[in-house]
Amino acid sequence: MLLLLHSCKSVFKVSPYKTYLNKLESTGLSKTKMGKAWVSNGEEAVRNPLKEVSIPFQESIFFRESSPDALGYIIHYSSARKVKFKVKTTADEPFGVFIDILERKDQLNNLVSIQSADTVLFYEDKQDKTLILRLQPELLVSGRVDLEIIDEPKLGFPVKGASNSSIKSFWGVDRDGGVRRHEGIDIFAKRGTPVIAVEDGVISRVQETNLGGKVVWQRLGLFGQIIYYAHLDSQLVTAGQEVKKGETVGLLGNTGNAKATAPHLHFGIYIGSGAVDPLNYVLMKDTVPPKLKSEIKYLGNEVVINRGASSAVPVNILSVSSEGVSYKNEFQKLEYSEKLILLSKKPSAKIKTARQLYKSPVETSAPVGLFNPEKSYTVLAKTGTFVYINQEDTKGWVLSD
Ligand SMILES: [Zn+2]
Repeated sequence: MLLLLHSCKSVFKVSPYKTYLNKLESTGLSKTKMGKAWVSNGEEAVRNPLKEVSIPFQESIFFRESSPDALGYIIHYSSARKVKFKVKTTADEPFGVFIDILERKDQLNNLVSIQSADTVLFYEDKQDKTLILRLQPELLVSGRVDLEIIDEPKLGFPVKGASNSSIKSFWGVDRDGGVRRHEGIDIFAKRGTPVIAVEDGVISRVQETNLGGKVVWQRLGLFGQIIYYAHLDSQLVTAGQEVKKGETVGLLGNTGNAKATAPHLHFGIYIGSGAVDPLNYVLMKDTVPPKLKSEIKYLGNEVVINRGASSAVPVNILSVSSEGVSYKNEFQKLEYSEKLILLSKKPSAKIKTARQLYKSPVETSAPVGLFNPEKSYTVLAKTGTFVYINQEDTKGWVLSD
């Protein structure tokens, strides 16, 4: 499934997420322990996202049916770019993940909301925004979700066969001894190289000026940006002509005030009242995310990590990204760390009498079984006066002697 989403259009009346919430309410599931956790974890993911993502980014998540988790990410969106989200699930029984993109201003606005097991969606907008992405599957599903976030320029590159390294003069540098500033970027290439339309649009003006020489102006959409191609050797379009992205509008040269310079395209973008820096609209960036952290081998498993000198606790690995690891700690709270330090030497402890096994290392936590001193057991972790043991496939915390 491929979705193209623009936030200015509302693509849903009631979001799939809200529909599911309503379903939990009407069936009474929202009052169960699991249902409550699902609702509050979803809220928490949006209220306190675990991390800010630097794009390109990838992460693998393992959701377990026993634990209704949700993950939140902060993404700084630049209006010069479009962001590509790829979400894919792998499970015995395929399940849909709720993918919600929200914006936090005075209140939370839901910009995108879908439910899918395998999707690619593009997000683009006219304004810079701080976005929150939430991923959360339905209740009672188990499986892996792979997320990839890639950043692409909003527009195509204007010089055929050229790339970033051909851009040699940037926005804002002095021109005419500081009298004016450079309101664009210069892309150098051989004279006669095709200059191509960066997007579909209509040619609004074809003219010759002292500054720009042979220039072409293109309008993108009715109220869209105006694209300015200057110093052309020749213009190959006429005013009023519709062009498609990639079509040649002229050939690269050094007309106008570029006569004394090597042939290059002066490329500009005008929005509303004036020029904006066009660089990020065309700059190509790495589209392959850094590889996942080595902790990926523990995804979905329990590992014991060091917590200071005399403390080691079991954690459940919920997700591993190219930047860090998120896990449920010994109190079943979600935490994030760039690196996990695993316990290298198993602790030891003697427990001589029968006693309660707890879910967490506090006496107020839920009992998970009973410790039997007659049977063998393994000590896995230790914190304070509590010891984490495994006895006949039951794991729990027990007060040490
Ligand atoms: Zn220039």
